[in-house]
Amino acid sequence: MYGIAGAGAGFMYAIFAFVVEMRFGADYEAMHILVAPFLGGIAAFVIGRESERIHHQSDMLSEAKRKFSTLTHDAITKKDWNVSFKDPSIPTCWEVKNCESMDCPSYGKKHVRCWLIAGTYCRGEVQGHFAQKLGDCAKCEIYQMSFSRDPINEIGENFNSLMWALREKEDMLTETNSELQKQYSELELMHKQAREMADTDMLTGLRNHAHFQRHLQWEVERAQRFNRPLSLVMLDLDHFKDVNDHFGHQKGDEVLQRVGKLIRHSVRGMGYSARYGGEEFAIVLPDMTAKKAMEIADRIRRDMAIVEADVSLPAGLVGGSFGVADLPHCASDADSLISASDSALLFAKRKGRNQVAYFCDLSNTELREGDMDKLHTRLEGASLQTIRALAEAVDANDDYSEANTTRMAHVAIAIADRLGMNQQQCDALALATRLHDIGKVGVPGSVLRKKEKLSAEEMSQVQLHPEIGQRLLHEAEQIQDLISAILYHHERWDGDGYPERLAGEEIPVMARVVGIMDAYRAMLCDRPYRKALKPDDALEEVRKGSGTQFDPQLVDIFVELVKRGEGNEMRESA
Ligand code: GH3
Ligand code: MG
Ligand code: MG
Repeated sequence: MYGIAGAGAGFMYAIFAFVVEMRFGADYEAMHILVAPFLGGIAAFVIGRESERIHHQSDMLSEAKRKFSTLTHDAITKKDWNVSFKDPSIPTCWEVKNCESMDCPSYGKKHVRCWLIAGTYCRGEVQGHFAQKLGDCAKCEIYQMSFSRDPINEIGENFNSLMWALREKEDMLTETNSELQKQYSELELMHKQAREMADTDMLTGLRNHAHFQRHLQWEVERAQRFNRPLSLVMLDLDHFKDVNDHFGHQKGDEVLQRVGKLIRHSVRGMGYSARYGGEEFAIVLPDMTAKKAMEIADRIRRDMAIVEADVSLPAGLVGGSFGVADLPHCASDADSLISASDSALLFAKRKGRNQVAYFCDLSNTELREGDMDKLHTRLEGASLQTIRALAEAVDANDDYSEANTTRMAHVAIAIADRLGMNQQQCDALALATRLHDIGKVGVPGSVLRKKEKLSAEEMSQVQLHPEIGQRLLHEAEQIQDLISAILYHHERWDGDGYPERLAGEEIPVMARVVGIMDAYRAMLCDRPYRKALKPDDALEEVRKGSGTQFDPQLVDIFVELVKRGEGNEMRESA
């Protein structure tokens, strides 16, 4: 603009010189020579100053731009929203207004913009945070003074304000985030506590029934995967109802709590304990055989006396019966393991309580008729494995190995095949040969093990075993087919057998097969009244029974199969 003014001045001067020359002639040339350089100098000076100012402003703009770029870059990359654009010339309110409010956070500080600090005092009032204050601040003279000096200052302050707003937002987000984190942790803790409560029995502090079921399942799978033993102990307090009846339920609760503590301490580091229900407890002992588990159970049983003293009850009132079963001997899955230890517990009760019983010893336990009902109830819904384990326990009484029983089943399958039975019937027959003596669990062990000849009464006890077997398995629906085979396997072809004196084809074919197998097997074992027969003699005995004791057609098949070799292993190992 000033350049144009200089050019304008030169042009005016030229016109002026032309007019003077026309009017006064060359006399005025000297004046022209004097004035021209003077005017030119003034124009050059003005233009120079202006150009210098423009240069200076341009440098300031470049510097401000560089500064902004650096600040913005740093703020974004380092997430540092602190105000860094400091200008000492920007006024502070306490200086300008001579304010001495010691409570104001900006008092006494340099480079502090009161509109950026929450809690400042303004017109006697405490101010909110930046975003809340900004609207009012724009009207404040201090705020306006800070911008009035220089447009670059204004941009700087706007930048500061932006950074401040970002920082406030970030602080707010961090605060919200940590609040959320806190709430999340609290929720997680509550969830954990709720889960813990759902798995815990509130009275004893032990795990509850539902947790026990899950845990046992897990332990059984683990034991089977690593081929390790696993024991389960079930415990039921004896005559616990009497404690409640005579000393009140609170005392009963106290006993349950104290027993829970005893169990927990007794298996600490070795196993897991749970309240199975009411006054029943369960202990899972991984990597432990029944022998060691029985020792632990017996220690707990003896320590019940301490509980009794602790809760100030008369001696002999607190006691427990224990049932032990283990993998792989007594069962093959979690359900059958529970059934097995439960059955052992039942036997411990029957034998007089306050003792430990092992499932695989059950057949050695003397049983009374009444127990069959209870056993039957317990076996309701029990898996085949449990029943099979029970049958094995019975076989153990008979000097007859599990291997031999398995081989018998093979012969039975060969016979079933010869008779044209379908697969299902084949399976049923094989199972029947294994389970047919299961009812002996109801025959006193002393009778079963007796080496001398049995009395008439003892003989009638033994003869109850097909019926007991039938009653035991009565409810187990999946083996309904076997029941008649078991019930009638001591019937004779000539009608002179037991329990119903059926004859000929009245006797179910499976029972007829099992009858032959059972007799042959018995002949190969020592009996109270005779020594074991040689295999060929036993076979001859079977043949002699053809048409009287046994179905003649089946005897022919059996003899042929055994002779052909199907029964060789049986004979060798007998
Ligand atoms: P047995 O030796 O045959 O096991 O006799 P028992 O009296 O222990 O067995 P029964 O099943 O007849 O009675 C069990 C009792 O346990 C009855 C029930 O009131 C009591 N019981 C179950 N749960 C609790 C409980 O949480 N607190 C208290 N105080 N008693 C309980
Ligand atoms: Mg009970
Ligand atoms: Mg009880």
